[in-house]
Amino acid sequence: MNNFTETGLADVLLKAVSELGFEKPTPIQAKTIPHLLNSGQDLIAFAQTGTGKTAAFGLPALHLTQVEDRRTQTLVLCPTRELCMQITKDLTNYSKYMKGVNIVAVYGGSSADVQIKALNKGAQVVVATPGRAKDLINRRKLKLATLDRVVLDEADEMLSMGFKEDLDAILSKMPGSRQTLLFSATMSKEVMGITGKYMNNPVELSATQMNTVAVNVNHQYYMVHARDRYEVIKRIADINPNIYGIVFCRTRRETKEVASKLMNDAYNADALHGDLSQAQRDEVMNRFRTRQLQLLVATDVAARGLDVNNLTHIINFNLPDDNEIYIHRSGRTGRAGKSGISIAIVHTREGKRIKEIEKKFGIKFSKELVPGGKEICTKQLYSLIDKIEKVQVDEKQIGPFMPAIYKKLEWLSREELIKHFVSAEFNRFLDYYKNAKDINVDESQERGKKGKREKRSRDERRQTAFTRIFINAGSKNDLTPARLIGVINEGLRSGEAEIGKIEILRKFSFFEIEDGMAVKLIDALKGKDFEGISLSLEVSQERPEFANYQKSKSPKHKGYKNMRDKWKKGKEKRSGGGGRGRRK
Ligand code: AMP
Repeated sequence: MNNFTETGLADVLLKAVSELGFEKPTPIQAKTIPHLLNSGQDLIAFAQTGTGKTAAFGLPALHLTQVEDRRTQTLVLCPTRELCMQITKDLTNYSKYMKGVNIVAVYGGSSADVQIKALNKGAQVVVATPGRAKDLINRRKLKLATLDRVVLDEADEMLSMGFKEDLDAILSKMPGSRQTLLFSATMSKEVMGITGKYMNNPVELSATQMNTVAVNVNHQYYMVHARDRYEVIKRIADINPNIYGIVFCRTRRETKEVASKLMNDAYNADALHGDLSQAQRDEVMNRFRTRQLQLLVATDVAARGLDVNNLTHIINFNLPDDNEIYIHRSGRTGRAGKSGISIAIVHTREGKRIKEIEKKFGIKFSKELVPGGKEICTKQLYSLIDKIEKVQVDEKQIGPFMPAIYKKLEWLSREELIKHFVSAEFNRFLDYYKNAKDINVDESQERGKKGKREKRSRDERRQTAFTRIFINAGSKNDLTPARLIGVINEGLRSGEAEIGKIEILRKFSFFEIEDGMAVKLIDALKGKDFEGISLSLEVSQERPEFANYQKSKSPKHKGYKNMRDKWKKGKEKRSGGGGRGRRK
């Protein structure tokens, strides 16, 4: 479907959609709109934010609304207050030319009285967060008896945010005749629980090309050492003086750190994370929406519901653990026909993650070089000159000051004057980037270096002289190579000693430790308790393994001969062992 007119939507909606710049339906819209206009069958749609899902359910719901009837006909449930307001705003925009339609948002953290007043006027469409919806239903302010359809938007998020009980309470009170539409990015067990319990023979649709709205995204990656990640953000911001983007971090702590570094370095940035109060979150989001902030440093959870168009950049300070989340993040740029750049800052061991994402989602990353000082200074300089050229001069305000200024600067020639003005603004950059290093990592060299490093450590290990040690614990006592390394670690209280081959037998074991450490370790572990036995270690002089043991007349070595015989016959059960490794 290439055109909205083919969907069968009312002209008033088509007009609004066209004014919003939507040229053709996104894949999820192309699938859901005709279904909803023509069928009352329940629907499950796999779609994430950025796929155009709000219009996918919103346009048909508005089309089907009987405007002369003031009862609530559509209830949209969504996880957060921000998303609730965003959906309401979108639906209001779509219904701009529909007379008599009333869309009301109800959400927690805000006065219920104002919302009740709005509901009392008669709202055909109500957009709600589950907690507040349940509350208003219980108070009989939100009436469901005549509801035609319910939309569960971001169902997986609602469930993972703990709204299951509220959803159960709401859905169980709905009229059986209503149509249920569920939108979810993932199909978790919990989501399936809801679909099974409350949906009736649903048809399933998916927008597998979930980022078709975001086809205009240019995916790039920069490869640097992990310690240089922050420097990359600075340089990206410096080479893009008009950047407007989100920097995604994995944790709240990282978010706070990156944001406060950016703020200290005089960037127009702030943080959005779960430790902020609702009022603080609103304030930060507002400054970002109105472009008073250029860079928002956020966690995925905190940025949910923040719907901002025209973002120029998405920066992944870290690649998220889940590749889908990368796609979700990058889909926040390149919207509404605009192009955008999604940047992944990766360190040397993450190259294969880029390949994985490319393969899984059929996208292509270009490897970019972190810009150097000269490049950044040139870009900044031209941006400054451009600003000077285009700045609006307020003759009235500045006029009275000019004679004194002319007088003060009259000794400077035109050329010198320009140089002074530019330097006044620009010296900060020149200073900072004067000795800027190239922080790019060459992957092929890095692979070579890694190979050499590994070979060197293998060689070093080969050269290490080991002493073979007997220990009176084995698999019977639940000793494993890992536990043995742990015991050795504790005994030596240092992680530097080289450990060689480990053989765990049933009642006792052998291991190699670098020569200088053997005596110290034997002393350290002597008599220590391990799973109820008192440890005893000895140097084992010869190979095969049991030669030294045989020489010992110590009573605790009784039975050794039998064991040796068994060993020789290959009957001794080896468990684990054979590992070589440095203690961690
Ligand atoms: P959503 O997935 O509903 O959050 O929508 C993501 C963004 O895409 C919003 O900014 C919408 O305004 C925009 N959008 C929705 N449908 C279309 C369309 N058909 N063409 C262009 N942009 C769209």
